[in-house]
Amino acid sequence: MRTLSNRCSLRVTIFKEKTEERFIFSSLKLAQWLLGTYWTSRYAVLGIALFGLLGVMSTAWAESAAQRLESIKRQPLQLRQFLQRMPKGGDLHNHLSGAVYAESYLRWAAEDGKCISLSGVITLPPCEPVGEGQEVRDILAHMTPNGGIEPLVDALSVRNYERREVSGHDQFFATFERFTSATFGRRGDMVAEVSSRAASQNILYLELMQSLGMFEVAAFAQTHGDLEADYGQRIDHATVDAIVADAILQMDQIDARRRAIQGCDLIAAEQGDGCHVTVRYLSQVIRTLSPVQVYAQTLLAFKLIAADERVVGLNFVAPEDHAVALRDYKQHMGFIAEIGSHFPDQRSGITLHAGELTLGLVPPEHLGWHIDAAINVAGAKRIGHGIDIAFAPDMDALLRSMAAQQILVEINLTSNDVILEVSDADHPLPVYLQYGVPVALSTDDEGVSRIDLTHEYQRAVTTYDLGYEVLRGMSRNALQYSFLPGEPLFDNTLSGRAVDACSSATLGAEAVSARCAEFLVDNPKASLQWLLESRLAEFESGF
Ligand SMILES: [Zn+2]
Repeated sequence: MRTLSNRCSLRVTIFKEKTEERFIFSSLKLAQWLLGTYWTSRYAVLGIALFGLLGVMSTAWAESAAQRLESIKRQPLQLRQFLQRMPKGGDLHNHLSGAVYAESYLRWAAEDGKCISLSGVITLPPCEPVGEGQEVRDILAHMTPNGGIEPLVDALSVRNYERREVSGHDQFFATFERFTSATFGRRGDMVAEVSSRAASQNILYLELMQSLGMFEVAAFAQTHGDLEADYGQRIDHATVDAIVADAILQMDQIDARRRAIQGCDLIAAEQGDGCHVTVRYLSQVIRTLSPVQVYAQTLLAFKLIAADERVVGLNFVAPEDHAVALRDYKQHMGFIAEIGSHFPDQRSGITLHAGELTLGLVPPEHLGWHIDAAINVAGAKRIGHGIDIAFAPDMDALLRSMAAQQILVEINLTSNDVILEVSDADHPLPVYLQYGVPVALSTDDEGVSRIDLTHEYQRAVTTYDLGYEVLRGMSRNALQYSFLPGEPLFDNTLSGRAVDACSSATLGAEAVSARCAEFLVDNPKASLQWLLESRLAEFESGF
């Protein structure tokens, strides 16, 4: 198990008794040392009074922010500005390769001497066949006032897809194989782009999905795997472990490249804002491969979570409506349950695309049960999309169960509109909110969809007339239900009721009790949540 060098640098300070009979502040780095100190009753009274005052002020600030939001809901420019600046806990459903904009892929392809076909497929050199493949660098070097890269950007994204004969669904999924070659050797650049974009929108945390090692383990499994054998014998674990080691090396290279691009090892004043966005990874299993390949990938995913703290969970990806994904869905859930039983400490990191389906896209027999199977067979703690919930045999019971188990739904409004043509009143978001199922807004594929997380907040506000309290609850949920280690900060993200250890503290305040400081030190998830609260307080105090 490796430890993280860039552990959250949250600045929380705590009160300490001092002989000169005045308060001093000390940073969280010293919190462990200070935990042995105690409060005299005199300081406690003063401290409680101070906390009380701060608490009243923060409530008033939040009300001002809520009023501001209400007053600008129908003013798109003002609303964008408000939501762009509003602290957003994180993006929990973000495919790294789909998060990069086409222009970046084209720029990197040009720098790397890669090629592109007339249909917009980026390939490795040499550029063949002649007349079909062309160097991207040549295209960028010979742009004219009337001839830029517009058709290529359209081919590598869903921009202008309505003007074509291909559906949003098909255009969306077709883009990935077109830009795959552009990602080779550029994953650090990709993380830098996505985390810098997050920083510019006041987003604290990203769980980025990527498939490191998945094609390697799938290729091995196809020739050496045996699903009929006993667990432990179905695939050679030593080979999988070697792929795990290689994936860890790749992550080291990715992180080093990201840090170099963003200047994260420079003095604080010269560091890029993106350095301060906490990035973790979800290992993504490609569900459209053969059963033995999916099995091997699932094993690799669990082993990666166990081996490296940067990998906090797993997800199953590729179109859920694909014939193979539909055929094998039940078997896949069984794989996760079985392998997961051998990785009890890693099972808390399971999130699954579930119910990204509609009637017409697939036959009725595939609707209404994927969400339930993901949660109750595979043990998912979160699901992505959850669109087909209305087809459940008993939607009311399923929703109540999700609320009771606190299963978060990752909501991707633009993605659902483009791929599934589900939007507005047809989307289940209001129903999830009505039942108290936790939700968080996410982008899915912000590069392919040509959006960002702020856009999704704005879409949610304007479509569903959400108030500030609900919006802030979603922002909090993105950390509360993240797969960061440790206990969460809240008993209730909507009301902002903190767990016992920090219930008397003003959320996000620099001064907290020794007990709360100890809790924050022990729980990285809660400590990042505390940073979000301090940013929310700063944001709300500006209205
Ligand atoms: Zn997705």
